[in-house]
Amino acid sequence: MLDIVQIPVLTDNYIYLLHDSVSGETAVVDPALAKPVLDLLESKGWQLTYILNTHHHWDHVGGNLELKQKTGCKIIAAHADSERIPGIDRGVFEHDVISLGEHQAIVIETSGHTIGHIVYYFAKDEALFCGDTLFAMGCGRLFEGTAEQMWTSLQKLKVLPPSTRVYCTHEYTQANGRFALSIETDNFKLQQRIIEVAELRSANQSTVPSTIGEEKATNPFFREDSVSIQKNLGLESQSPVLVFTELRKRKDSF
Ligand code: ZN
Ligand code: FE
Repeated sequence: MLDIVQIPVLTDNYIYLLHDSVSGETAVVDPALAKPVLDLLESKGWQLTYILNTHHHWDHVGGNLELKQKTGCKIIAAHADSERIPGIDRGVFEHDVISLGEHQAIVIETSGHTIGHIVYYFAKDEALFCGDTLFAMGCGRLFEGTAEQMWTSLQKLKVLPPSTRVYCTHEYTQANGRFALSIETDNFKLQQRIIEVAELRSANQSTVPSTIGEEKATNPFFREDSVSIQKNLGLESQSPVLVFTELRKRKDSF
């Protein structure tokens, strides 16, 4: 089994530590900071093998150099981001495979939030580390890519098995839920999920991971083909990309 430990840092970031107990290999996904990772490694008695970055924003790579210097780990990130990932050792492309002991992740390119954003999909472990591409009930802002690029990227994630756990990098779920409900008031599963999320947050608990199946049922950015959403936007029978573009625009000013 792949051990997955979630570390909440900064205001709303999550760092993930992945550990394979057979080989002893350990990876960290998007270390915003080094200290909380070093502390956890020490308390678990684990040694860091890899850093996996999804994109170059500071709240995803801030701990890179210190972790590399203190642990000798190797840094893996998108080849396209070679110039802007601190300490990168291996630049990867779509469909490249990364091994953590027996566990394998495939790289999926998901430009949109940034150009060069990638995600790591552990198929057998049913775990997706998706950075700032897909969020619980939301998706990343378009800092560099177009709406069409982001939509194309999300389509690659939407087809993953519904049981896949979605480990995104931010706890934005509650605010995302408010927007989702404004777009689709009559979605019963969404209403239910918002209640569950409110309970978790009031107990100061994480709402992440969700699953691809839950996102397909409640995330408006996965539901641009829903008739009720299209109706509410006044965009019936329009192309999915157009509906997605409008959703993203409305969320930006929500
Ligand atoms: Zn980002
Ligand atoms: Fe971020």
